[in-house]
Amino acid sequence: MTESILVINAGSSSIKFQLFAIESGDRLERRFKGQIEGVGTRPRLFAVNPNREILSDVTWSAPDVPDVPAALEKVVEFLRPQIGGRLPCAVGHRVVHGGPMYSDPVVINARVVAQLERLVPMAPLHQPNNLAPIRAVLERRPHLLQVACFDTAFHRSHSELADRFALPEQLYAEGVRRYGFHGLSYEYIAMRLPSVAPDIAQGRVVTAHLGSGASMCAMIDGRSVESTMGFTALDGLPMGTRCGQLDPGVILYLMMEKGQSAKAIEHMLYHDCGLKGLSGISNDVRELLSSQDPRAKLALDYFCYRIALATGSLAAAMGGIDAFVFTAGIGENAPAIREAVLRRIAWLGAEISVQANKKNETCISRKGSKVTCLVIPTNEELMIATHTLRLMRAHALQEKRA
Ligand code: ADP
Repeated sequence: MTESILVINAGSSSIKFQLFAIESGDRLERRFKGQIEGVGTRPRLFAVNPNREILSDVTWSAPDVPDVPAALEKVVEFLRPQIGGRLPCAVGHRVVHGGPMYSDPVVINARVVAQLERLVPMAPLHQPNNLAPIRAVLERRPHLLQVACFDTAFHRSHSELADRFALPEQLYAEGVRRYGFHGLSYEYIAMRLPSVAPDIAQGRVVTAHLGSGASMCAMIDGRSVESTMGFTALDGLPMGTRCGQLDPGVILYLMMEKGQSAKAIEHMLYHDCGLKGLSGISNDVRELLSSQDPRAKLALDYFCYRIALATGSLAAAMGGIDAFVFTAGIGENAPAIREAVLRRIAWLGAEISVQANKKNETCISRKGSKVTCLVIPTNEELMIATHTLRLMRAHALQEKRA
């Protein structure tokens, strides 16, 4: 096999991975994607090639794959025969938090890992899992180039106004800021816009990343100026199981009046709220759309209502809006949600083409609509591979010069 780049996205109980071949002209072509899920409970590795043919579907007992490093071993065992024993040239990792200092991807070394470890208190559920495979590769293959790509980096272009909470200065100085997340997805959309919609690529664009996590980003000329997510990935829109924007007084009430622990509240805010909490049925939009239960309707109405509210505030941040982009699982696949959102922001000048929307076309607004409405599938892994390749080439050049 030709040279390749491995992309790793490690969560709390799963590792997602994709292998990209580096073709001539540095074109990246995905060779396969897979994930190992149920780490520590019911481990299963599943991988498919670009034609969706199954390359692997194996399950183990929990003690065989107790943690993320063990899961990584299984991924490597799967990879070996697939790549003919030839190691990837580099590994690109998704890392949720780059803190105030990282506005770009970075080549990993021990110093970078130490800096990223200091950010664990700001993303305790995600950062340790992101770092586990990085450390495992550093130990086993210290010379293999690794690159960290951050969900926060794309938003470091925010002005100080957008970056702050109205909190005492000391908290800002120690890093309590509105970081924003899903940056790799927004960056990918920004990269695609000039070819998908050249007329508006330099304009004022609101992008809604609506997946199991959900947020929105205001971009001017492909740069992020504002986002609905803040200090953590809990803020902003309601999500599958996360609450979204919440009065901090609710947390005080739960702690002081109901005696709930910080851990219990954290668990509820991440796992029992959002569409799941509102509907009492499911966090999955497909299930809610097919349900006749009024609570399912309430949850979806709430979701669309909050997206419309956020659009108003993001448009205010940009002094207007030229385009609205839907992306991620719900944004790419749920015409009913897109229609409900666009009807709510018709006052801003978004005119939906019902037919185009039903057919999942790229442009779903009517000709002459003041706001161009688009559906663009995101590809965070390709964004990571692209960054990794770029840094790999720059690194090789530096080595040559040295
Ligand atoms: P993540 O990568 O964060 O896990 P995705 O971007 O894959 O999330 O989005 C997952 C969500 O997308 C699911 O929870 C589901 O609600 C929604 N989804 C996926 N396919 C459809 C569909 N055909 N119709 C409506 N919603 C869908």
